[in-house]
Amino acid sequence: MDSFEELLQKEHLKRTKARVMILRVLEESAPITAVDVYEAVRNKDTKLSLSTVYRNCEALAEKGILSRSTMMSDGLIRYEYAHGNDVYHAICLACSKIFSVDIVPLPDYKKQLEIKQDFEVTSQHIEFYGFCKDCKEREKEN
Ligand SMILES: [Zn+2]
Repeated sequence: MDSFEELLQKEHLKRTKARVMILRVLEESAPITAVDVYEAVRNKDTKLSLSTVYRNCEALAEKGILSRSTMMSDGLIRYEYAHGNDVYHAICLACSKIFSVDIVPLPDYKKQLEIKQDFEVTSQHIEFYGFCKDCKEREKEN
């Protein structure tokens, strides 16, 4: 049994081949849509349908194994392997690439939310919008 199978068992999800394949694809991937996941797993199992992939991504996201993000520019839901951490993304407005960012913004805002709003933060999802290195260089050349 590999670690994904153990993870599914821990979350009381059935250990299906589809779920393990989806997790393998997303483990090393930037956030991608269900269609992108489907295209990546289709090479390995042609019997999987897009709706199966979509349903499984949703089930995994509900358990917090995947995190969901929606970009303002296209409104599509993208999935990412959650790695058990808070998620921060930088999204390029020119090429739509999504980067996971390894910074901790405003470390005390959870406490501030609790004090000012009496709101207990259990998870967070922060997105930064702007232009990536490649797009900025392209802009300079033109
Ligand atoms: Zn870009």
